[in-house]
Amino acid sequence: MSQVADNLNVIRARIKQLSIDAGRTSDEVQLIAVSKTRNLTEVEQAIAAGQTAFGENTIQDALSKILLLDNPNLQWHFIGHLQSKKAKQVAEHFQWIHTVDSLKLAQKLSAAMVQHNPQKVLNCLLQVNISGEASKSGLSIDETEALLDELQQQKPPNLAWRGLMTIGVNNDEAETRNTFSALRMLRDQCRQKFNLKEFDQLSMGMSGDYDIAIEEGATMVRIGTELFGQRK
Ligand SMILES: *Cc1c(COP(=O)(O)O)cnc(C)c1O
Repeated sequence: MSQVADNLNVIRARIKQLSIDAGRTSDEVQLIAVSKTRNLTEVEQAIAAGQTAFGENTIQDALSKILLLDNPNLQWHFIGHLQSKKAKQVAEHFQWIHTVDSLKLAQKLSAAMVQHNPQKVLNCLLQVNISGEASKSGLSIDETEALLDELQQQKPPNLAWRGLMTIGVNNDEAETRNTFSALRMLRDQCRQKFNLKEFDQLSMGMSGDYDIAIEEGATMVRIGTELFGQRK
């Protein structure tokens, strides 16, 4: 068995145990394997071990793998900052984007879906910068509500609003927990206020903090290092 397969089994068991300990069912949390910077062989090892959902943060790095693998069973998640001129590539090759942070980007993604992938719907998460750190991209809480309000009025076609994403605060457990629980509350509030039935996803937690994220209600954890090893 490959090292990646070994790691995958350890992570799956850990996600399951953390979910049960948090009083959640063991299948509530989806593992997104963050394959950015990894080569095709590493991704194939994860696929051989049953992984289907992968996260990438640049179009170029992602397309080299997506096109070569050409596997309709895989689910690709865009998790990086997206320039709106690259909306077409996301619309064509990804099923999810976790990093929508402006009306303009939403409109570009919608137009690209209508033109290039009209039979499908792109699942979208809004990226929120809960902690307000200047170094991080994402919407403030107020901006998140304002954007959802706009989207409810405009209803750009071929996009499904599925929830929120955030990146945790490094190295501070209490602050990380506060960030994740604030994201959960914001999702619940938005879901109710805007009557969004499918707005049920919380993408939060990476290698260093996914335990806290699962305790705080994550439905997707994005794990790279613990699965594939340190990035070079
Ligand atoms: C790289 C990355 C991850 C994975 O981080 P690890 O610490 O390697 O698990 C998760 N989310 C985003 C947005 C990333 O860019």
